[in-house]
Amino acid sequence: MTEHVVDHDPNCLFCKIVAGQIPSKLVYQDEEIYAFHDIHPWAPVHFLLIPKVHISSMAHLTDEHAALMGRMMVLAPRLAQEQGCNPYPEGGFRMLCNTGVEGGQEVHHLHIHVMGGPRPWLRG
Ligand code: 5GP
Ligand code: ZN
Repeated sequence: MTEHVVDHDPNCLFCKIVAGQIPSKLVYQDEEIYAFHDIHPWAPVHFLLIPKVHISSMAHLTDEHAALMGRMMVLAPRLAQEQGCNPYPEGGFRMLCNTGVEGGQEVHHLHIHVMGGPRPWLRG
């Protein structure tokens, strides 16, 4: 059976990125969180914010993840601005978290898309 919450899943693309086994363009990291540019950006700014531990999706969160997810939410606006998103309210950014196949999730390691910058965007 697949474990949905583990320190590291050797078959997971984003776990390999966190481990440096697959290169990525780093936006930010600390002990718990890793952020990197999306390889196919939809918008002038498009990065992904992920927990370093392997959590398959939002559907696998438990109460013990509340502080981690809270930190990611609080961090996102700061990183968005540092990466070039224009200030609120004329600027701003979009956060998107696809969950499960019907939710449009392709990589099954929880991630928050952060997108912004002048429109038009490629998608979204
Ligand atoms: P999802 O559809 O699961 O919400 O989003 C997965 C995202 O990961 C997509 O936007 C896709 O472009 C991005 N992605 C897939 N593989 C890689 C990769 O190897 N490196 C980076 N930086 N992004 C990736
Ligand atoms: Zn993973």
